[in-house]
Amino acid sequence: MQLLEERIRKDGIVKEGNVLKVDNFLNHQMDIKLFEEMAKEWKRLFAGCGVNKIFTIEASGIGIACIVAQEFGCPAVFAKKTKTKNIASDVYKTKVESFTHGTVYDVIVSKEYLLPTDRVLIIDDFLANGAALLGLIDLVNAAGATLVGAGIAIEKAFQPGGDLIRSKGIHLESLARVKSMTVEGGVQFCR
Ligand code: 5GP
Repeated sequence: MQLLEERIRKDGIVKEGNVLKVDNFLNHQMDIKLFEEMAKEWKRLFAGCGVNKIFTIEASGIGIACIVAQEFGCPAVFAKKTKTKNIASDVYKTKVESFTHGTVYDVIVSKEYLLPTDRVLIIDDFLANGAALLGLIDLVNAAGATLVGAGIAIEKAFQPGGDLIRSKGIHLESLARVKSMTVEGGVQFCR
């Protein structure tokens, strides 16, 4: 998606450790007009799929997911990160390894908000190694819901997550695919 790529070129900052900072429009300050354009694009890409629930993970996926849910006219649900040892029986739980923090944490979603009748579109800001997305997919499967696909804002295509998810036959739509990035040279996109 050209608009998103242009914005990344303009305001994205490449950090050491393969981290792209997009705090100016996505991860801290949020450009809602841009989110609306992204949501429209996902609506087009997942048209006719019967999506009735948007699913994401806290915290940075929530803003985008809300705007996407508005476009699809359905609720947005986010999986919660938790440190609680005693997990209640009324939640589905899985483990996710954080790309940015290098730690493993539990994520949960209430059984009430993910149902076997749901047709779920997962939305997240970044795809790197795929841990966050695999965790969300686990929760969708645990609920017996149907996974329609996943919409990612920025896929770092030089990391293994995208290939891993596609190899499972999952319909993945990334709006910007970063081929390579360096602190000195900036960001190059897949074409
Ligand atoms: P994965 O689980 O695919 O390795 O990483 C995805 C998660 O890590 C995303 O939910 C996102 O929050 C975070 N993340 C991964 N790479 C980056 C990055 O380059 N920049 C930012 N801001 N977040 C990232």
